[in-house]
Amino acid sequence: MAEKRDYYEVLGLSRSASPDEIKKAYRKLAKKYHPDLNKEPDAADKFKEVAEAYEVLSDENKKAAYDQYGFAGVNGQGGFDPFSQGFTSGGFDDISDIFSSFFGGGMGGFSGRSQTRNGPRRGQDHLMSVDISFLDACFGVKKDVDLTVDETCKACNGSGAASPSDIETCKTCHGTGMVIQTRSTMLGQMQTQSVCPDCRGTGRRIRKVCPQCRGAGYQTKRTTITVEVPAGAQSGNQIRYSGKGGRGENGGPNGDLYIEINVQPHKMYERMGDDIYLEVPVSAVDAALGAKVEVPTIHGDCELAIPAGTQDGTKIRLKGKGVINRKTGRNGSQICIVKIHVPKTLSRKEKELYRELQKIQNGSDDSIWDKFRKQFS
Ligand SMILES: [Zn+2]
Ligand SMILES: [Zn+2]
Repeated sequence: MAEKRDYYEVLGLSRSASPDEIKKAYRKLAKKYHPDLNKEPDAADKFKEVAEAYEVLSDENKKAAYDQYGFAGVNGQGGFDPFSQGFTSGGFDDISDIFSSFFGGGMGGFSGRSQTRNGPRRGQDHLMSVDISFLDACFGVKKDVDLTVDETCKACNGSGAASPSDIETCKTCHGTGMVIQTRSTMLGQMQTQSVCPDCRGTGRRIRKVCPQCRGAGYQTKRTTITVEVPAGAQSGNQIRYSGKGGRGENGGPNGDLYIEINVQPHKMYERMGDDIYLEVPVSAVDAALGAKVEVPTIHGDCELAIPAGTQDGTKIRLKGKGVINRKTGRNGSQICIVKIHVPKTLSRKEKELYRELQKIQNGSDDSIWDKFRKQFS
């Protein structure tokens, strides 16, 4: 019998750990060592150790007794066996959350004593991401995606047997798929439940296997699905394909496949919801005098009126030139952000004209420089 480890040590906590920290540590370790998820030979024992530590430390009275008297304070209540307690009492109510969050709803992957391992189980949901270009997301696109799907074998209906009379109940586990061993420990009688080695948990033995699938019950098929990305799609949008996910077990249905859209950024346009932002360079002269310029939009070039006296950073809206809103069916806007462009080099003629302008501006009473200085007087 291995030496019993301190409960706080088991959960990797200090003695001053808060109830919240205890709960967090327990959830983390229970997931890590749960025998359905962790196939290491000592996982079941570790899981029990963690469950036992939590059972004591999550209970105010038991924790107080343990803090004061150690194991002596909490023993003498009979053996501890999470499997025999069931997971609905004794502080284990939240174990179902752990597994529903882990497997996704409806998975029912946890096999306590009340469930047998050989019932039909739905396959896991899969997630796949598909890259699409910025413009394809705006206008929608069809994209072929190749994948492999395990389909239930039609010849044997997933049983893996050549005919129904070739299926017999496993004699070792009497069809439960599990074997239970009882051993005596310091804590009393401990029961360990493990997968039946003779039928690998199916509860059945097959005399003659299905020649189509060689007993597997499914056939792996390559298939192509056409993903229809709707106009106005955004990164993170998911499209569900029923039954294209992970293989169901023992006649259970396949899980679903979720295709997640990943929109590639555009080198000029930036999208926020239905609106598109674009920086538009405008010369200082056009900004001062006003001008009409042709700007690109996702719907083609479009005339943009720059009013006289436009400042740097001004946003000008082009209505209806954005992306379609999937709910309202209306297009968003393109927001043009004016970026005033100061030339780095000038031709001789330009230089002359700028000098002329400089003279006029510096000579006037309300030059920008004078206005600025007046703020300090
Ligand atoms: Zn068996
Ligand atoms: Zn078959």
